[in-house]
Amino acid sequence: MSELPVIDLRSAIIIDQHAHSLVNDFVQFESVDLRRCFTESRTMDMLQNHVQNSLSYIDMIRKLQFLLDVSSEKQLIELRQTMREFDLVNSLFDDVSLGAFIIDDGYSSGKAMPLQKFSQLTDRPVFRCLRIESLIEQALSISSSFGELESKFVSLLSEPSDVPIVALKTILAYRGGLRLLDTTKELAQEEFSPLKEGAKDRSNEHGKSGASKPKVRIEKSNLYHYLLLRAFEFAGDRKIPVQIHTGLGDSDEDLSESNPLLLRRLLEDKHFSSVKFVLLHCYPFVKEAAYLASLYSNVYMDLSLACFLVSANIESILMDAISLAPLSKILSGTDGHTVPETYWYGALSLKRGLSKVLTKLVREDFLEPAQAMKIAGDILHGNTRQLYKLDGLA
Ligand SMILES: [Zn+2]
Repeated sequence: MSELPVIDLRSAIIIDQHAHSLVNDFVQFESVDLRRCFTESRTMDMLQNHVQNSLSYIDMIRKLQFLLDVSSEKQLIELRQTMREFDLVNSLFDDVSLGAFIIDDGYSSGKAMPLQKFSQLTDRPVFRCLRIESLIEQALSISSSFGELESKFVSLLSEPSDVPIVALKTILAYRGGLRLLDTTKELAQEEFSPLKEGAKDRSNEHGKSGASKPKVRIEKSNLYHYLLLRAFEFAGDRKIPVQIHTGLGDSDEDLSESNPLLLRRLLEDKHFSSVKFVLLHCYPFVKEAAYLASLYSNVYMDLSLACFLVSANIESILMDAISLAPLSKILSGTDGHTVPETYWYGALSLKRGLSKVLTKLVREDFLEPAQAMKIAGDILHGNTRQLYKLDGLA
C-alpha cells in the first residue's frame, strides 16, 4: 500500500496577523541582543548564561546556521554584521514565504522602524494595528478634563494614517489583568483628577518639573476600563477586530491574570457581540482559548509568540487549538519584533507544526489530503485575509 502524502507547507504563504516593527541597525546586534529577542526575561544573567540553552534558541540557531552557511552563534553574529539589512531580512522572509504583516506599533523603544520603512525594506504590504492603551495615555497627557479626554481619545482612534489601520489591540492583561471592572462613566469621571495629580507628582519627583506634559501609565481602573469599552464600541462601529493579549508575553504580567477565561463577562455582553475579538499568544491557555473560540462566534485565536518561544511543543499546542476551535477561527501570527529572525523562526515553527498535525490527521483518516491543504491555507493566510478584509487594501 502506498504511503499517504505528507502535507508539505514549505512554500505556503503566511500573512502574519500579529507582529511588531524591526529596529534600525538590527544587523549590528551582538549575541546578547539577539538572545534578548528570544526570551521574556530582562536580566543579564539570563541573557549571558541561560537563554542560549533554551530549546527554541538552540533550534533557531541551528536552522539559521544551515540557511546562512555558518557553524556557530559567534560566526553567525559576525556574518550578520557584514550583511545589508535588505539582504538579511528578505532572505529570511522569502525562505518562509511571509507575505504581509499586521503590525502593532504602539510600543516604541525609540529605535523601532517606522511602518513605511518596514514595508519598503521588506518589500511586502504592511497594515497597522493601534494599541488602545498608548492612545489613552496620549489623550490623558493632553487633556484637562474628563470630557476633553473622551473626545481626544476618540479623535486619536479616528486619526487618518498613511498605513491602513485594520485592527485595535489591548494589553489589558499586563495592566492589571483580563478581568474587566463593572464600570460606569460616573466612576471613570471621578478618577480623572486624582490620576492627573498622581502623574504630576511622579514627574516632579523625577526632577522633571516644567518639562513636557506629565507621562501617565494607566493601570487597572474605572477610567481605563471605561475607555477600553468605548474603544471596543468604536471597533464594532468601524467593523475592525480587536486583538487581546492573553497568556505569556510580558515580564510585567501576572500570568494567572492573563487567562482568557477571565474575559467571560465581556464575551457574554450582548452589547459587544458584533465586535470580533482575536485572542493573541494564548499559551499556556491554548485549550481555554480554543474553548472560547468554539463557543462565541466573535472569538478568534492565534499562537503568536508561543510559536517561537515554545517551538518544540508547537505540534501539540496546534493540536489543542485545532481539535476544538473551528478551523475558520485560527489565525497565524508570529509576534516577530526587533530582528527578522523572530518572524522567520515563528513562521518556520508554525508551518512545521501545522504540516505535522495535518499529515497526522490525514493518516488517521480524519481528513482528505485536499481538505488538509485547504485548512492549511485558511490558517496560514485565508482566515486573516477575510477577518481583516485585507483584499481590498493590499
Ligand atoms: Zn505582540
